[in-house]
Amino acid sequence: MIRHLPTADPYLSGHGDPSYAVRHYDLDLAYTLEGNRLRGTATLSVEVLEETGRLVLDLAHLQADKVRVTGAGLKKWSQRHHRLVLQLDGEVASGAELTLTIAYGGQPQPVIDKHHGDAGWEELTDGVIVAAQPHGAPTWFPCNDRPDDKATYRIAVAAPAGYVVVSNGELVAHQRRASVESWDYRMDRPMATYLATVQIGRYTTTKHGPSVTTVAPADADLDGSFDQQAAMMAYFEDVFGTYPFEAYAAVITDDELEIPLESQSLSTFGRNFCSPDWSQVRLVAHEMAHQWFGNAVTLRRWQDIWLHEGFACYAEWLWSEESGGPRSCDGWARHHHERLEESDQDLLLADPGPELMFDDRLYKRGALTLHALRVAVGDDAFFDLLRGWVAEHAGGSVTTEDFLAFATERTGADVAGLLRPWLHETDLPPFPQA
Ligand SMILES: [Zn+2]
Repeated sequence: MIRHLPTADPYLSGHGDPSYAVRHYDLDLAYTLEGNRLRGTATLSVEVLEETGRLVLDLAHLQADKVRVTGAGLKKWSQRHHRLVLQLDGEVASGAELTLTIAYGGQPQPVIDKHHGDAGWEELTDGVIVAAQPHGAPTWFPCNDRPDDKATYRIAVAAPAGYVVVSNGELVAHQRRASVESWDYRMDRPMATYLATVQIGRYTTTKHGPSVTTVAPADADLDGSFDQQAAMMAYFEDVFGTYPFEAYAAVITDDELEIPLESQSLSTFGRNFCSPDWSQVRLVAHEMAHQWFGNAVTLRRWQDIWLHEGFACYAEWLWSEESGGPRSCDGWARHHHERLEESDQDLLLADPGPELMFDDRLYKRGALTLHALRVAVGDDAFFDLLRGWVAEHAGGSVTTEDFLAFATERTGADVAGLLRPWLHETDLPPFPQA
């Protein structure tokens, strides 16, 4: 009876349990490409947030075979509807700290959602990607799949020798034993479940600077696109503030992919994005900008997705101007305002509904909302606000209301009043003029 299981966010039905938070995930995984077999042990350090006799985790297509709870008695556990339900011996009080250890395995595959399509662990021709936004995390580890429950991670993966495994954060150990290579990653900054990832392929690594790399098939052509990333990084650090993680990698799969996707400290692109055309380069900038807006500073509720996509889209326009791309930032703003004027006016930016949360109009209108704010307060106040926003909230979770309150305090302008028509009305406001 799925209706009796919790939903933490109305945009993502059947995911997440608000009664507890995970502070740390320790994932010990072994994967074989032949047969697509994943075995894992997940150890979750959990804090109970509201008194409960039951903990519900998300786990899709994989079977748990051993569950242990330390800190409370476990009466029984069961799996149904992509949920792993742990029935405790009695009620556990708010503030209690538990450790959940789950051994599990099977053949991982994407989950399909009626609004969001498929996401999660996916086999490539000769490798694996995990593209989990917004609902794919349960395809590879048992989790509390809600965007506001950020945790630190250790992700260790044993895979066949000869493949490179990339995951979030810093590679702290790497060993080869006979036919198996082990890769041990740590992400010490809080991370939402959907931003956790594993990438496996026959890759070589190209360094573009001390903290930026591309991990790609040896014959991938990085000229005029991915080799621009060190310059992009320097520019974004200038306008958004210090890069929020240790290092950044762009992973390019040998397969073509429909869209690129950000994860925390890395992004994934298909080979088809290796092109100096602006239509591709803009996406290299877009995914990198998500490290500040989306990954370091993460929405608390999916309805606030413009806080990710509007900002990353605006970063594209900024990079176009900075790098001598096809248009200035203002030029892009005018161009997309004209296009939005000709589109349906039925999108509510601050609460678009799950069916429109990744609609292209949301990206462009979100970026125009920032442009309106910039025109109103001036460049100095605007970029000071962006840097302050990241500095204040990196590692945390935010809402649109948080942004409006912060922007009002930081700039002294009535930002809530100024942006109300952009955020809370469907008709497109006139193009912002100084
Ligand atoms: Zn994006």
